[in-house]
Amino acid sequence: MAVMRFKALEEVMNREPRPVEREKLLTSDYYGSLVFDEPKMKKYLSKDAYKSVMEAIENGTSVDRKMADQVAQGMKAWALDNGATHYTHWFHPLTDGTAEKHDAFIEYSNLGGVIESFSGKLLAQQEPDASSFPSGGIRQTFEARGYTAWDPSSPAFISETTLSIPTIFISYTGEALDYKTPLLRSLRAVDHAATAVAQYFDKDVKSVRANLGWEQEYFLVDEALYLARPDLMLTGRTLMGHASAKDQQLEDHYFSSIPTRVNRFMEDFENEAYKLGIPVKTRHNEVAPNQFECAPIFEEVNLANDHNQMVMDLMQKIARRHNFRVLLHEKPFAGINGSGKHNNWSLQTDTGVNLYSPGKNPKGNLQFLTFIINTLQAVYESQDLLRASIYNAANQHRLGANEAPPSIISAFLGTEVSRMLDIMENSVSDKKMTPDEKTALKLNIGRIPEIILDTTDRNRTSPFAFTGNRFEYRAVGSSANCASALIMLNSVVANQLKKFKAEVDGLIEKGTKKDEAIFQVLKKLIVASKPIRFNGNGYSEEWVKEAAERGLTNVNNVPEALSALTRPEYINMLDDLDVLTPRELEGRVEVEYEKFIKKVQIESRVLGDIAINHIVPVSIKYMTMLLENVKNLKEVFSESEFEEMAAGRKALIKEISTHISSIKSKVNDMTEARKEANAIEHSVDKAKAYDAKVLPYLNDIRYHIDKLELIVDNEMWPLPKYRELLFIR
Ligand code: ADP
Ligand code: MG
Repeated sequence: MAVMRFKALEEVMNREPRPVEREKLLTSDYYGSLVFDEPKMKKYLSKDAYKSVMEAIENGTSVDRKMADQVAQGMKAWALDNGATHYTHWFHPLTDGTAEKHDAFIEYSNLGGVIESFSGKLLAQQEPDASSFPSGGIRQTFEARGYTAWDPSSPAFISETTLSIPTIFISYTGEALDYKTPLLRSLRAVDHAATAVAQYFDKDVKSVRANLGWEQEYFLVDEALYLARPDLMLTGRTLMGHASAKDQQLEDHYFSSIPTRVNRFMEDFENEAYKLGIPVKTRHNEVAPNQFECAPIFEEVNLANDHNQMVMDLMQKIARRHNFRVLLHEKPFAGINGSGKHNNWSLQTDTGVNLYSPGKNPKGNLQFLTFIINTLQAVYESQDLLRASIYNAANQHRLGANEAPPSIISAFLGTEVSRMLDIMENSVSDKKMTPDEKTALKLNIGRIPEIILDTTDRNRTSPFAFTGNRFEYRAVGSSANCASALIMLNSVVANQLKKFKAEVDGLIEKGTKKDEAIFQVLKKLIVASKPIRFNGNGYSEEWVKEAAERGLTNVNNVPEALSALTRPEYINMLDDLDVLTPRELEGRVEVEYEKFIKKVQIESRVLGDIAINHIVPVSIKYMTMLLENVKNLKEVFSESEFEEMAAGRKALIKEISTHISSIKSKVNDMTEARKEANAIEHSVDKAKAYDAKVLPYLNDIRYHIDKLELIVDNEMWPLPKYRELLFIR
């Protein structure tokens, strides 16, 4: 680019990839060096203290105060050895991101001066002034206290110079105010329910854990350009910007070679992630220009989710070393791919069996099918609850647009597993099965493994896809806390497995043989859950029609999506499972409505400001230049010559003027609509008003701005354009 419209562009063009300071070590040499993990506990803790923490990790037992004191001493010693000066309870409030309040280790010493001190009491529980975190009305100001309490199942780590202790966050009255508390409860629920069912097939199973492998998508934008875009800075997405003539249509970005400057950034943050014991493994270019992905090896859900939060934080910090900004927003740019966070989820027994892996024999396969079929039924029955858990102001722009799964929840199984279900459906009769029928069925079931292993038909369009040994929940947004989706997924599967167990046990009590009872209930579920199964193209128009005929729901706005969270059947289910009390759920719903309102409000204000004080002034300036030009032509040329020459210019002036007028009047109308919405007391109605009356202006106004971007002199346009944001690095 010869002429630079901005100083910022010049800055970007002169950037050199920043060298990464990496010690000449193998990753395995420093992996986990900043984590108080098992080997370090062994070194720094007494035998008893070590045993007590390990028990807490493995069986969820609590660590008593005396032991906690010993653990705190060990943790402190390790932290000081590694340069820490502060400690913090680290938790996941109901905002985007995590919270921490650092305290120095120092206390006054009897001998004068200070000493480094840390106690079991401080490790186990703290009382942050928590009135500024969202609670959805659970915590009134008169009971503003909240407690954070140590979660031993996720190890403490050192972030910069602070010992960070993962904790849950609850109110004075015991209600969950965070994502971690209900996540842990949902993991317990699915553990109990899945263990009971797995014991039909293996008496030795004592527990079941859920695994999560997240795939984090994100965009990178050069810092100088980012700082010249107030919309990106304040809302995380571009509220205007005409499509670049070239973006992703040549499909030349996905998996293509990673630019050096980006690669250095990735190396740098992955390095830091390894020190924190986060097993990041895969990195690649994503579909859209400047879009990338990072994925770890899967881990137990609670730990994996802590790690995802840590990675999102780390990426943003490290990006600045490389003069990048990370965009975690679900739809930073209109017209090209948005960012999601596929949640690869599975269940695994303590005997080492993945319950979503086809078994080695008919029994193992029947277990596999049992879990697949119950999961389908759970997703079918709770499609609206699952959607509510991933639907928000940002993700709504992504779902259903540019290669993201639609807002219709369906499940992909692939042809082979689908065929197995069909075989089962057709060969199990309601009468007692003959031994021959049973043998035939078992033989068929026994055939699964080889078939699945060479199944490669991966359907990328499904929001919930079976991918050989796990389900991949793809509707989750890139900026989300995975817990939001997984609390619900764990719960609905737990609930369905409990129902399944009760029904099978009922049949057994009446004298039906176990296998036969399982077959019969599964057959019923296969039939019942059929509408949720879809192997076709989820992005197509036909699917929208077909889904409607099947009775699947298709919701395209946030207030309606969230309303599912107020249905009695879901409230009761989450209550019965001890995941969320009705009051806790109600608080969360309130928080979600509030978040939606505030996000749309902020976007609307930012757009109004930029439109009026960036776009309109330059457009007027350019129009004035054209007017001058027309006047000059008139002076120089004859009447007839002038008429011919000025026609096009006059039309252009009118066009600009029309767009300017539209912008001005629409910004006014939008402000009025906001005022009206703000006057509404009740948050549900307010959210509806924001959705129906304010949100549409964002696209309306943008339309005129994007038209002006194509007309106004390139040199004058005050914002970096899509082609600059997306292709310069
Ligand atoms: P994709 O082809 O979908 O991009 P990747 O290999 O990049 O797949 O990422 C898939 C993610 O799924 C990784 O985090 C991986 O560790 C995880 N994963 C693999 N097997 C399981 C499993 N059984 N349970 C949960 N997650 C899994
Ligand atoms: Mg994937």
